[in-house]
Amino acid sequence: SVLARECISDLIEETLAIVSPQAFLNNITVIYKPVQDLPPCMIDRNQIKQVLLNLCHNAIEAMPGGGIIEVEAGCPPQNNEIFISIKDNGCGIPSGQIKKLGVPFFSTKSTGTGLGLSISYAIVDAHKGRIEVISREGAGTLFRVYLPC
Ligand code: ADP
Ligand code: MG
Repeated sequence: SVLARECISDLIEETLAIVSPQAFLNNITVIYKPVQDLPPCMIDRNQIKQVLLNLCHNAIEAMPGGGIIEVEAGCPPQNNEIFISIKDNGCGIPSGQIKKLGVPFFSTKSTGTGLGLSISYAIVDAHKGRIEVISREGAGTLFRVYLPC
């Protein structure tokens, strides 16, 4: 992997530029309020971009009738880490399936590969970060990626 000091805000903007046309076609509004004071992180830029793309694609696929994706980044005070969260108001994940997330080939979609999350978890693990999931069936899902910085 290619670790370098990277600006997370730039990476989020690049990701959203890729995701926005597909969101728009699906009646999905993307909300992102950039914050200015994020410290740089040592990351493999392309890999973390892939993680954010995977999470955004899942969010889009969770809202076939349209909806809202909220993207947020921040740096909890006194923690040497930053977080990036991607929240949707889509179908949600049944509580019994939460522990299967990230298991290779676990998919509930007829044409899903079930690889997006397993790859994302592996990438974030390799960065010594973690991914948090909060979801409610029928209400929506929040994925939050933490990365050391
Ligand atoms: P795939 O998208 O190919 O199914 P993933 O590894 O990306 O594979 O996701 C695995 C499964 O996790 C999905 O099939 C879906 O059941 C669930 N999932 C992931 N993200 C979301 C989300 N934002 N909302 C609802 N379910 C989700
Ligand atoms: Mg996926």
